[in-house]
Amino acid sequence: MNHDESRDLYDRSLSVMPGGVNSSVRAVRPYPFFVERGDGAHVIDADGNRYTDYVMGYGPLLYGHDMPDPVRSAVQSYASDGPMYGAPTEIEVDHAEFVARHVPSVEKIRFVNSGTEATVSAVRLARGYTGRDKIVVMKGGYHGAQESTLVEGEPGDTAPSTKGIPESFAEHTIPVPFNDEAAIDEVFEEYGDDVAAVLTEPILGNTGIVHPVDGYLQHLRDVTEEHGSLLIFDEVITGFRVGGLQCAQGKFGVTPDVTTFGKIIGGGFPVGAIGGQAEIMERFTPSGDVFQSGTFSGHPVTMAAGHASLTYAAENDVYDYVNDLAETLRRGLTDIVAEKAPSYTVVGTDSMFKTVFTREGPDDLTDACEAGCAQRDACPRYDYCPKNGADVSNAETERWERIFWQEMKDRGVFLTANQFESQFVSYAHTEEDIEETLEAYKAAL
Ligand SMILES: *Cc1c(COP(=O)(O)O)cnc(C)c1O
Repeated sequence: MNHDESRDLYDRSLSVMPGGVNSSVRAVRPYPFFVERGDGAHVIDADGNRYTDYVMGYGPLLYGHDMPDPVRSAVQSYASDGPMYGAPTEIEVDHAEFVARHVPSVEKIRFVNSGTEATVSAVRLARGYTGRDKIVVMKGGYHGAQESTLVEGEPGDTAPSTKGIPESFAEHTIPVPFNDEAAIDEVFEEYGDDVAAVLTEPILGNTGIVHPVDGYLQHLRDVTEEHGSLLIFDEVITGFRVGGLQCAQGKFGVTPDVTTFGKIIGGGFPVGAIGGQAEIMERFTPSGDVFQSGTFSGHPVTMAAGHASLTYAAENDVYDYVNDLAETLRRGLTDIVAEKAPSYTVVGTDSMFKTVFTREGPDDLTDACEAGCAQRDACPRYDYCPKNGADVSNAETERWERIFWQEMKDRGVFLTANQFESQFVSYAHTEEDIEETLEAYKAAL
C-alpha cells in the first residue's frame, strides 16, 4: 500500500495542529492515513487505498457512510434553509418527542453538542439536584474530556489522570472497578450521604467492551436509590445501538435517573444530550437553578439528521440486520481465536465487537460463549474474560496496537486505533464484507 499523500498531509498537519490531529486517538503511528471519502461500509484514503471500515466515526455512523435517502434529504434541506438561528425550531421538538417516546428513563431531554458536554452537564445537574459533591465513576469508564471524570486512584486517594486538572477537583470523584458489587457497597458505606451520583456506561464501550455481570446494574440502581443518589447511565456509545431504540437501559431492564447521549443520536453530526425524569431535568436553567446553555445546542441540521436516522431505524429492519451481521462476525472470530490464539477473548453485543488479547484462558473451551463474552458464569472463560478496565489494560495491548492493527490495515480492514475502543458493524456492511474480514483476522492473528 502506498501512503505518500497521507504522509505529506501528516507532515503539513504536524506544523499546525498539536500531534497533527484534532482528536488524540487518530494519531496512529507512524502516521495516520487521511480519509478522502466514505463509500457505504468503506473508506478511501488520500492515496486511493480502500478499507472496510469498522471504526464508523468511533460510533455515530449506524448506516455507514451513505446516509439513507430520507436522512440525506433532511440534512440537505435543513442546511440550505440556513444553518441555525438562536431561536427554537420544530425539529428539536420532533427529536425530543421521539427520544422520550422510546427511552425508558427519558421524560425530558436537553440537546447539546458533544458527549463530553452531555456528561459535564449531567454531573452538574446531579450535584445541583442532590446538593452533594461526590461522583462515583468506573475505572476504565470513559465520559469524554471532562474535569470530573479524568480521575484515577482509589477511594480516598485520587488524583487527576491528566495534567491541567487541579488536585482538589479529583477529591470529589471516586473511581471503583466495574462489575464489583463489594467495592460499590464499601464506597456507599463510607461516603453514601455525600454521593451525588454514580456515573457509568452500562457496558464499558471505550475499554475493550466489558459486559456487565448478571445483576450488577440492578445493584447500582438499588444502592443509589437507598442513599438518595442519582444513577446516571452514560449511553453516548450504547444509545440507539445496544438494545435498539430503547437503548442499553431497556435491554438490561434497569432505568437510571439520568441518561447521557451522543454519537448516533445526531446522525453523524456533532451532538450530545441529557435526558431524565422531568422533575430532575427541570432543574436546568431556565426552569431551574443549574446553569446550562449553548449557542449550537439543538442545531437544526443535527436534529434533522438524528431524527431522520432514528425514524428510519424505527421503520426498517436496521437493528435486526446489524445485530445479526455482527453476531455472524463474532461467531466467526470466536472460531478463529479458538484455533489461532485460544487465550484471546471475543467481546461485544448487538453491533459492537472487539477481540481482547487476554493472556490466559481455560484449557477446554466446550460450551464457551459463541458470539462474544456475555459474562455467563457457566462459560469456561468466565474466570478469564475481562470484568473491568484493569483486566483489559493487562491484556497484550502493545501487540494489539503495534502489530495486529497494522496487519489488519495492510489487509484493507480499518479497526479502531487501539485495544480499548469498540468497533462497529453498520447497515452498509454485507455478508461478503464479513467473510473477507474474517479471512483477514485469520491471517493477521
Ligand atoms: C464518545 C463518548 C463520550 C464523549 O463524547 P464526545 O462526543 O467525544 O465528547 C462520552 N462517553 C462515552 C461513553 C463515549 O463513548
